[in-house]
Amino acid sequence: MMEKIVGPIEGHAHAGVTDVESYRDVHMRAARAAGKDVLEVDSDVYAYVNHGRWVVDCVCNGAGLTSPEFKMTCCFDCGRVYTSVVFPGDSAKIEKVLLAREEKERRNWMRGESVATLQAEGVGS
Ligand SMILES: [Zn+2]
Repeated sequence: MMEKIVGPIEGHAHAGVTDVESYRDVHMRAARAAGKDVLEVDSDVYAYVNHGRWVVDCVCNGAGLTSPEFKMTCCFDCGRVYTSVVFPGDSAKIEKVLLAREEKERRNWMRGESVATLQAEGVGS
């Protein structure tokens, strides 16, 4: 299997997430089971890569998995759904540089960091 920067499909595979619809469905059921309201947030939020996962920080201090394909995220800590996740235009290049790094802990990208900066950091430690 080709390695990927982890998004909702990879991170929630055990729960049966295969697309945006099933992601929202899994999240809705989890929120209900926990007695939380699902709250939609349509203002822009920004994705970044942490330890090989595309994530978005939530105002509750939790975080949700996202991906350039999904462009949305669900926070399982509080029940919020962010429907407008912003990705860098060169997300595919960023993924490629990060995936060349063997340790997942080193696969990090902050908003505004250029591909050139990532490349300069190299693949080693
Ligand atoms: Zn939250």
